[in-house]
Amino acid sequence: MNGSDFEARVSAVGERARAGGVDAVLATPGPDLRYLIGYDAVPLERLTCLVVRADDTPLLVVPRLEVLAAQASPAGALPIEILTWGEHDDPFALVSTLLAEARSVALDNHMWAEKVLRLRDAMPGTDLSLAGAIISSLRMRKDDDEIASLLDAGAAIDAVHAQVADMLQPGRTERQVGAQIADAILGTGHVRVDFVIVGSGPNGASPHHEVSDRVIETGDIVVVDIGGTMPDGYCSDCTRTYAVGSPPPDFVREYAVLQGAQAAAVSSVRAGVTCESIDAAARDVLTEAGLGDLFIHRTGHGIGLETHEDPYIVAGNDLVLAAGMAFSVEPGFYVEGRYGARIEDIVIATDDGVIVANNRSHDLVVVS
Ligand code: ZN
Ligand code: ZN
Repeated sequence: MNGSDFEARVSAVGERARAGGVDAVLATPGPDLRYLIGYDAVPLERLTCLVVRADDTPLLVVPRLEVLAAQASPAGALPIEILTWGEHDDPFALVSTLLAEARSVALDNHMWAEKVLRLRDAMPGTDLSLAGAIISSLRMRKDDDEIASLLDAGAAIDAVHAQVADMLQPGRTERQVGAQIADAILGTGHVRVDFVIVGSGPNGASPHHEVSDRVIETGDIVVVDIGGTMPDGYCSDCTRTYAVGSPPPDFVREYAVLQGAQAAAVSSVRAGVTCESIDAAARDVLTEAGLGDLFIHRTGHGIGLETHEDPYIVAGNDLVLAAGMAFSVEPGFYVEGRYGARIEDIVIATDDGVIVANNRSHDLVVVS
């Protein structure tokens, strides 16, 4: 990402705001701010706020004690005026002065409620709305640098999965394995561990189980779904399913169906098809084999600077995929009291197909 990329993003937000009758878009620390100007500010109580005006230059409001951090970020090299406020100033009054003529202002979707309400009090005559639609339509389509970042993140989490089979020894607890996986996530280039799911035996039937003190036993199926954040802010997310010892024969049959479902969904990805058609491609395979009722979640979610972002791969989402859209394809099946299974890769739609960011085998990994 270089300065001209950020400038283009900010001006695109201004254009979209103008087209939508919005006078300004405000973004506080979080993924939208980082996406727009490269400033990875820590969300704190003091107000830091990017002000993108539809008909004027953009401004960045920062607390005086954080101005050096703002200037040191990529934002410091952009043609964006930085306005500081001191410990005894009211930054919300400052923002309302900057937007004195504004009738309609859109706020980034992750802004803290505390700041939303103080902005509302400072601008009582202004209509406030969510900026999600304006910003996410940009964030959804990854440029070449972002695609490279997601491929790096995919390779890093693949390198963790390469170590997982050795960690899954009978007699160890999910928590012990999870701690070792967390170390490996950091050891493979991530700067943050976002989540570690080690769902052994019946715990695998809960898709968002994390870890517990359950001891892994011979005969267990183990769902391992892990992800972290890379230094440039882009996220990884990948699931593989492991068997400790010989898996039950009915599970082996079901898992083969799941492999087919995941492959069918990935091979249906390309620009021009709808999000819900990708969900259907996976779901139809499971349903035909009598497993549809066990696939209890959507097929996937967008990924980028957040692990879960637009677009969502779910029935009812008729959004048409465009080249550069990145998301997970992660069908699963879940049998309460026994086991679960899931296969998850991150993919990027292209004009004529798909790029897959995770490249470890989908075969059940049998730990002997
Ligand atoms: Zn996942
Ligand atoms: Zn996921």
